Amino acid sequence: MISQHRYPPEYYQKSLDALEASLKLGAYRSWRAFDLGDGNSVDDRYALLPALTKSDIRAHFPGGFVPRDKDVESGLTSGEISYVKTSGSAGAFQVTNIWNQGWWDASERASWRLNSHATRLATGDHPEAILANSLNVGFISDDGDLPLEKRRLGRFLFLNEKTDPSRWTPEIMDRMIGELEIFRPVILEANPSLLAKLCRYAAAEQIAPYQPELIVFTYEYPSRLHLRQIRRVFGSPLASSYGTTETGYVFMQCEAGKFHQNTEFCRVDFQPLKKEHGGPDLGRILVTTFDNPWYYMLRFDVGDLARLDKDQRCPCGRDSALIISTIEGRFINATLTADGRLVTLRRLDDAISTIDGLDEYRLEQPAPGLYQLHLVSRRQDRDTLEREVKQKLREVYGKAAEINVIYEESLSPEDSGKYSLAKALFPLKIEDYLDGGVVSD
Ligand SMILES: [Zn+2]
Repeated sequence: MISQHRYPPEYYQKSLDALEASLKLGAYRSWRAFDLGDGNSVDDRYALLPALTKSDIRAHFPGGFVPRDKDVESGLTSGEISYVKTSGSAGAFQVTNIWNQGWWDASERASWRLNSHATRLATGDHPEAILANSLNVGFISDDGDLPLEKRRLGRFLFLNEKTDPSRWTPEIMDRMIGELEIFRPVILEANPSLLAKLCRYAAAEQIAPYQPELIVFTYEYPSRLHLRQIRRVFGSPLASSYGTTETGYVFMQCEAGKFHQNTEFCRVDFQPLKKEHGGPDLGRILVTTFDNPWYYMLRFDVGDLARLDKDQRCPCGRDSALIISTIEGRFINATLTADGRLVTLRRLDDAISTIDGLDEYRLEQPAPGLYQLHLVSRRQDRDTLEREVKQKLREVYGKAAEINVIYEESLSPEDSGKYSLAKALFPLKIEDYLDGGVVSD
């Protein structure tokens, strides 16, 4: 599959160091039984180990992930580390992690090298505006509006302080657009659904906002619908940055549109899905962090599905390490066809986004074979729209799919602060979809 020569020798040394240091820690004690040990290749040793889940983190936090020579209490007191809670896209599933700002910043800086625009623009002290849910980052204020100076932090400006963007008023959106003009960010980091909402407003009001030199998407899967709405307003280059609180920056989308691995800071193991569910190019990714002295994440299941780039080459010339053609959305945003095959968010999104005149959507699957599509659209020809939508969904889910379309005025994010575009309302287990075979080169 992915041949070894794609990685520099340091990558294997870092993989080995992370493995051996982790296996000494409490959280991974039971994993030692799976380790092939010395004399085997590091890839083979990794391949037989389990995946680290959020429940494992909860069960062993914090002591199980911190080496003996580090003292959490003194790290917290000195400010070198802090605790950070993630709401996670799994809704109520809250996890606390150890946050090491120095390591995080270094991981981010390394990821910038994977995109030429970011390499050129991101100096580390460049002004950056962030448009995200305040539940995820920044300052929260639902009752009153915070003035600009109360939403500044270092080189950052947080454009939004509201937890439910469906309640943004025209005044708030005018303010955000005005602040882009005042602050003139080099980079705008945005949650794509929120930026799309702002862009729908700007397009309707025929406002041409200040154009940052690069727009970086984080937090959410960027729907094609959202990308189209953003493109009507912004001509700036777009790039997705992929990472998690647990793992730092894992992939960065280059200027040619593919995702490159941040090999200085993490190892990625790819586990293909079964053929009938989209494998072997489609699979889940497990991330091992490098060189974070405070927190050892070994084969952490980041919860996303990714598609391997078929030829593992990129026009940008970054032809080493793992190349992903697309992140396909989170596993919890996967649904099933009427006959039980996995449908990634990307596949659904590609189909729905071909329909004209949609502002937003959310697909829920309450039971096998049943689908409820919540739609926000200004189209008046609802019968035609409904026919188009049902036809598109049947192409994805099968002729037997029973589909209801529900029109909404607007859609609100989940408790996590992120929008859910699709979801099965019954439990799915990733293990049922993974190819059982051991993954190796
Ligand atoms: Zn590239």
